[in-house]
Amino acid sequence: MDQLKISRKRLLETIAVSAAIGATANGGLHRLALTEEDRKMREQFITWLKEANLEVRIDDFGNIYGRREGRNADGPAIALGSHLDTQPCGGKYDGVLGVLAALEVVRVLNDNQIETELPIEIINFTNEEGARFTPPMLASGGLANEFTKDYIYSRKDENGITFKEALENIGFLGEEKNRIRHVKHFIELHIEQGPILEKENKTIGIVKGIQGNNWVTVKVIGQTNHAGPTPMEHRKDALVPAAKMIIKINELTKEIDGLKTTVGKVYVKPNVTNVIPGEVEFSVDIRHEDNELRMYALERMKEQLSTIALLHDVEMDMTTDWHSDTVEFSPAVIQSIKNAADKLNYSSMELFSGPGHDAKYMASIAETGMIFIPSINGISHNEEELSLDSDIEKGANVLLQVVLDLAKALSKKQIGA
Ligand SMILES: [Zn+2]
Repeated sequence: MDQLKISRKRLLETIAVSAAIGATANGGLHRLALTEEDRKMREQFITWLKEANLEVRIDDFGNIYGRREGRNADGPAIALGSHLDTQPCGGKYDGVLGVLAALEVVRVLNDNQIETELPIEIINFTNEEGARFTPPMLASGGLANEFTKDYIYSRKDENGITFKEALENIGFLGEEKNRIRHVKHFIELHIEQGPILEKENKTIGIVKGIQGNNWVTVKVIGQTNHAGPTPMEHRKDALVPAAKMIIKINELTKEIDGLKTTVGKVYVKPNVTNVIPGEVEFSVDIRHEDNELRMYALERMKEQLSTIALLHDVEMDMTTDWHSDTVEFSPAVIQSIKNAADKLNYSSMELFSGPGHDAKYMASIAETGMIFIPSINGISHNEEELSLDSDIEKGANVLLQVVLDLAKALSKKQIGA
């Protein structure tokens, strides 16, 4: 079975059909979750699943499954997939690749009459992007009980339409009993959405997990006063120490290897030309794959910011708004991906994912792993998002080998052929 390969032509043609549903003038895709475009894509996807003789199910979150039975019908499934929704004016690969490459893998198994010991399920997750309904990864989070059904159903888009209404409107409100339950592994092929593979000149990214992060709000409180009469030495300007803090937060990444910090939002009060700012609030996004180092970085940041506040005689308050620990993927899946890349003679490297993916939540119900392929210039969530055809082919070939391994492909002898 070593020579078994996916069909590059067929996979690219399938991706091209998807790329036409919600296409933008600049070559991107605008296919928000549960819209008319998403409905069209879902119908097309189901047609493909049925053509591949898969049994189709839709669950209460609108997730679509296509199941290929294994010899052991009661055995746990090997699940593959990602999402067909996109950002507004997003790219045509993002999650689409993971879903359609999974379909291609099953087509190859069918063409070659390969039986597997364990059943295989392809999944298209609803609303991964979070562009129409926040937060992202809503439906995989639902499967993992990260969000309750009531919470998911009550999420509203900007026009006040709830998630449940949107599901009903496009005819994709399925049943709870259709959710995937008995699942051993989940594997997601995805574009990297970052520049590392391209920079390191590697084709296959073996994803070790998803980087954790903390969102913190920092408030600096000084005193508002008139810009004219107040002497410099009598001011409690909140913005000057805040500016120093922002620089310190950026410099902290030089102290701790692998740390990423971003200040993305700043509010100045009262934000008036001739008034000394009395209050500044800014956000910090802080990421590191090592949970302990990330917590250490937060402590260090607090110390440094407190010192700056003290020197400027202002108050400083730091609150954590949200945090998500690093999710580590299954060693068995990581090993299987590595073996596949080696066997196919593709260059590979291990790395962590910066962004979240459905795999993050699937990791709590299945032994999970992800395969990355390079994104040209690290660009994604953009119409210019691009991955090379040759890398798409290689990523899908790795996925095929991993499925043959984990779903336990039976040899011709075992089948009795
Ligand atoms: Zn994605």
